Amino acid sequence: MEFLGEQKLIEQAKVGFPKGITKICDNVYFFLGYGGSTCILVVGDKSCVLVDTLNGMGVAQEAMVEVRKITDKPIKNIIYTHYTHFDHTGGAAAFAVDDPEIYGHQPAFSQYAHTEMIKEICQVRGARQFGRGLTPEEIISVGVGPRNNNVDKQSNLKCTKWLTEEVTELDLDGIATVIVAAHGETDDQVFVYFPQYEVLCCGDNFYESWPNLYAIRGSQYRDVSGWVQALRMMLVYDAKYLLPGHTRAIIGKEKVRETLSNYADAIEYVLLKTLEGMNVGKTAQELVEEIVLPEQYAKLPYLQEYYGTVEWSIRAIFAGYLGWYDGNPTHLGHIDSNKKALKTIAMMGGAENVVAEVNKAIAMDTKDEYQWAAELCDILLDAQVEVVAAKKFKAEALYALGRMQTSANGRHYYLAVAKFLKGEMQPAKMPGFGEDAAKKIG
Ligand SMILES: [Zn+2]
Repeated sequence: MEFLGEQKLIEQAKVGFPKGITKICDNVYFFLGYGGSTCILVVGDKSCVLVDTLNGMGVAQEAMVEVRKITDKPIKNIIYTHYTHFDHTGGAAAFAVDDPEIYGHQPAFSQYAHTEMIKEICQVRGARQFGRGLTPEEIISVGVGPRNNNVDKQSNLKCTKWLTEEVTELDLDGIATVIVAAHGETDDQVFVYFPQYEVLCCGDNFYESWPNLYAIRGSQYRDVSGWVQALRMMLVYDAKYLLPGHTRAIIGKEKVRETLSNYADAIEYVLLKTLEGMNVGKTAQELVEEIVLPEQYAKLPYLQEYYGTVEWSIRAIFAGYLGWYDGNPTHLGHIDSNKKALKTIAMMGGAENVVAEVNKAIAMDTKDEYQWAAELCDILLDAQVEVVAAKKFKAEALYALGRMQTSANGRHYYLAVAKFLKGEMQPAKMPGFGEDAAKKIG
């Protein structure tokens, strides 16, 4: 088996986020490859504005040394493109040495109450998605940033100024700044536009990958239609430079316009196709089998599935609009999973037949057969028979499926669970997930 997904991810990691500081134009500097996210420095006459603060103290301190080489003016204003994701706030303390104002947008929708009750599982799933506990070779990258950047100590600082308007225009020590609410990846997302420089900082509503319209680590529904709208709103500003929260800068008006338009159109295509199919009674499973991104989008380098995938997006849209029920009354009830698995195995002629079929499937070494093997192992595990063999074979199947993924998130998740099943790794935890955003604001 050639692991094409893995190879693609390795290739992208070589070019997708080269570490360095780019002088975008006079007074605007783009920091990329310092940790998993980016930050943007705008130097004014008296002081500087910083957009986002990287994901941790180590990388932020390193970047701050470079800031001091560029200018000795103090950073008096910091803007978070989204306060609720620690990978953009984790380095705040390293930059906040001159008592800056810190701006964030009050989320349009707060987290559900009691979200902190699922903090532990969110931390475990977050760790799996980002590959914590895997080797550097296993991680490769996080899809939109370099590997191993999530172990840094965090120093999030709270906002000192909460914005609630759709559009806020500010004069920050002479730097004209427009902050626009852009509900997409998160409900508190904004983009920041600097008209003097025609620079637009888009946070996580654009980066060079199929977007993470659904995060497999688990989160509330991300409003896909809002995401499309946010991208269209960016187009109105007709920026010359587009600086994303992850991955490289997009430079040139024509290129920015084309990129944002394609990104919005591709997401909207999947959204509308999914809704259309739902409306005639199709299930998420049927839609996943049916909907393919048209070639005009599928060929674009910035729409490859390094981070999110079209399949998970379709499932998320289905659940977001219609909920978990697929419309089939069989699924309104259930039979106890252990009983169901035992009956299924008996009908299959016994557990040894199932194990033989798993062996055969794995030997065939194709994506479908590995999936089939994993599904059969789940029946054994539900039945609690041949548990040792089932874990071993499931781990083997997941490892192969993981290496077939282009999505770093998918790869990490498969590989982490495979290692867990083999007893090689305990579930790691990653702080920062599953916390109540509304609480943080207080
Ligand atoms: Zn991010």
